[in-house]
Amino acid sequence: IGEKVVMQQQEQAEVAGRSVDIRARERQGSTLLEDASAQFRAAAAHLGLDPGLQQVLETPEREMSVALPIEMDDGRIAVFQGYRVQHSRLRGPAKGGIRYHPSVDLDEVRGLAALMTWKCSLLDLPYGGGKGGVNCDPSLLSASELARLTRAYATAMLPIIGSRIDVPAPDVNTDEQVMAWFLDAVEAQTGVFDPAVVTGKPLAIGGIPGRGEATGRGVALITMEMLRRRGIALKDARIAVQGFGKVGGHTVRILADAGCRIVAISDISGGLYNPNGLDIPRIVAHTRNHPRGLLEGYPGEDAEPIGAAELLTVDCDVVIPAALEGQITVANAGDIRAPIIVEAANGPTTGEADRILQDRGITVVPDILANAGGVVVSYFEWIQGLQGTKWTLEEVRARLDRMMLDAFEAVLQRAEAEDVSLRLAAYLIAVGRVAETAALRRTAGA
Ligand code: GLU
Repeated sequence: IGEKVVMQQQEQAEVAGRSVDIRARERQGSTLLEDASAQFRAAAAHLGLDPGLQQVLETPEREMSVALPIEMDDGRIAVFQGYRVQHSRLRGPAKGGIRYHPSVDLDEVRGLAALMTWKCSLLDLPYGGGKGGVNCDPSLLSASELARLTRAYATAMLPIIGSRIDVPAPDVNTDEQVMAWFLDAVEAQTGVFDPAVVTGKPLAIGGIPGRGEATGRGVALITMEMLRRRGIALKDARIAVQGFGKVGGHTVRILADAGCRIVAISDISGGLYNPNGLDIPRIVAHTRNHPRGLLEGYPGEDAEPIGAAELLTVDCDVVIPAALEGQITVANAGDIRAPIIVEAANGPTTGEADRILQDRGITVVPDILANAGGVVVSYFEWIQGLQGTKWTLEEVRARLDRMMLDAFEAVLQRAEAEDVSLRLAAYLIAVGRVAETAALRRTAGA
């Protein structure tokens, strides 16, 4: 991350009266953008795409960078950097979340936006791909500062967003309250009631039942289907999940309810390990009582502490990275003991690590498939908003499950037919579809 951004974050931390070591968050190895581009190029080469078309699909369509001056609670002004990248709108409006995190910069948002294009295409949603973010540490901001920051971001993005242009949603450190502020700020400016301008909203303001659990439900479903195909009974499955937030939390709950043994979990405050299986209901009850919903302070009698990095290499059947990108790197890929990795986060495995895992015969279910449940239910919410209809939780779940399993089946078949990894197979389907649309739209001389 750039010097200027580091200074801004340090300033923000100081304004908020806390000292944090921003530099400790720097990523090792290749960047998410580099990895996403390499994955795309591998698929483009395999598909034999024309170099011009390849360039069209690789270059982000539109990018916006904004400075967001916010009045902090103590009266001081702090300036935050905000971004939105519309990687592609060939198959429909750009679609993708908004992230609040100190690692956010234009390149990270570019990489994440490209992943959204491929994810939406793989699930055959009528969307392109986009992503947004604000470089900030939300744990240092009060609720009213977050509200002002979100409203400023939404207002700045007004020229390029819209229910038929670009539809944001939650991502790391943003939730349904942030989406409600975002929607309200947009509607306050336009004067037009348009709930489909953003998804992941609270139920009372046009949200859809089941959006909160959707990503975790999709991850859990894919994990269980993978176990079934490997002949591992759910009650015998031992699973480690890195991240216990919006995605990891639901993933763990659903897998534990289904009878799996969750042997390790972690969040930003630390991790818990028990090779015989953690008491998930008890842990969930603990996080409900914690002011920030964290594992911190969980009584140690039935669980040992474990670090988030160490968790990835415990002896188990499935490892699910459900936190941030760049967690499985050349430094630990050789130590992973699980035969299956299900990528719940976006870009948790670096390119080099991916090659090591493949050489070691470890199956990686790629992010653009495994974590697509969120955007699938965002799609239902968007339809609901455009049509003024209401979906039930049963309808949402049934259609989500079918779409996830159909996409999984398509990826497995493609991987087998072409003798390639699940990741390359997923990209072949996703890139192939966008390439077809692009060729139809942008024929020579048109
Ligand atoms: N942020 C989620 C993702 O990375 C959801 C995006 C959406 O619902 O638009 O897939």
